[in-house]
Amino acid sequence: MNSSPDRVPFADLGALHNDLREQFDSVWQDVLERSAFVGGAYVSAFEADWASYCGAAEAVGVANGTDALALSLMALGIEPGDEVLVPSNTFIATAGAVAMVGAVPVFVDVDPVSLLVTPETLAPALTSRTTAILPVHLYGHMADMPAIMRFARAHGLAVIEDAAQAHGAMRNNVKAGASGAAGAFSFYPGKNLGALGDGGAIVTNDLVLMERLRSLSNHGRDTADRYVHPLRGVNSRLDALQAGLLSLKLAELDEWTAMRRAVVDEYRRGLGDLWSHVVDEPPGSFSVWHLLVMRVQNRSAFQEYLDAHGIDTGIHYPVPCHQQGAFKHLPERSLPVCEQAAGEVVSLPLFPHMTSEQVGRVVDAVRMALETRGE
Ligand SMILES: *Cc1c(COP(=O)(O)O)cnc(C)c1O
Repeated sequence: MNSSPDRVPFADLGALHNDLREQFDSVWQDVLERSAFVGGAYVSAFEADWASYCGAAEAVGVANGTDALALSLMALGIEPGDEVLVPSNTFIATAGAVAMVGAVPVFVDVDPVSLLVTPETLAPALTSRTTAILPVHLYGHMADMPAIMRFARAHGLAVIEDAAQAHGAMRNNVKAGASGAAGAFSFYPGKNLGALGDGGAIVTNDLVLMERLRSLSNHGRDTADRYVHPLRGVNSRLDALQAGLLSLKLAELDEWTAMRRAVVDEYRRGLGDLWSHVVDEPPGSFSVWHLLVMRVQNRSAFQEYLDAHGIDTGIHYPVPCHQQGAFKHLPERSLPVCEQAAGEVVSLPLFPHMTSEQVGRVVDAVRMALETRGE
């Protein structure tokens, strides 16, 4: 990211944290005072707040979003040999978590408009070994969970929502993470709710599953006796410091989401007809707009034009997972929607404190870049 003052940055974490500095300091002083660095009151308080924010019964803090996914799979009994359906147009961690538990990620295509999985895109990949589905609420846009849950029930599959980009997104008034057996969140600093380091959480309404998750994430410990290990677990916990900082930031999250949505409205008005290039929120849903993604032909020329006009962009993601070297041992698949999207998507600057002047500059540059090429 170029920090030169006349560039429009892709994101701006500094602006997000400026007003909270003193509160951050007092959490750190308090954690130091208590010498309670792992677990404890800050973690329990954040877990309770996060569960209630998501409309779920319970939350367990873990070390990062990838572990949140892998622990959910483990707790649901997904084993080596099992096949888990995963969209190919996602951050690699979605599929990586499946591989971590020894299961096989089976990549599926997505809807050509929303770029999200649907029962129609999942169905062709079903086999007798399929045991779970991992829908991803990509870019902050929520997948159609009622339809996916009906499909899963009809085929006896577990559903784990990858909500790492969708903190607070809603469909039919149900929040991301609250429909599946488990919902996995990342608090990587750049996510809509980010720690000042790594962090993650799992939400669920299943209290038995929650007990397993608590144990699995803490060395497979018995919850009553710390020297008894009935499960083969891992060490994946949320630090007290991060939990304390996350609670402070959670209090601001709805406001930041509203600011993101106001920025998106400015983009929508400014882009006019060109808004049709944007991957929009699905009808009837409330997106938290983790990313504002356009689809353009000749993307590298588009990005170079914006860069020359002082505007940073990103690509989420240029190579679909099924074409990554990490998964080249799996049977080859043709997933035309994911493959085409990977060549066209480009993410524009979007962050809560983005000014109208900054949006205006991006809109003007996008207009020039597209109109001079007659798109
Ligand atoms: C960030 C992200 C993850 C992984 O989260 P980490 O905290 O970085 O491990 C998983 N899935 C998606 C879609 C993500 O964006």
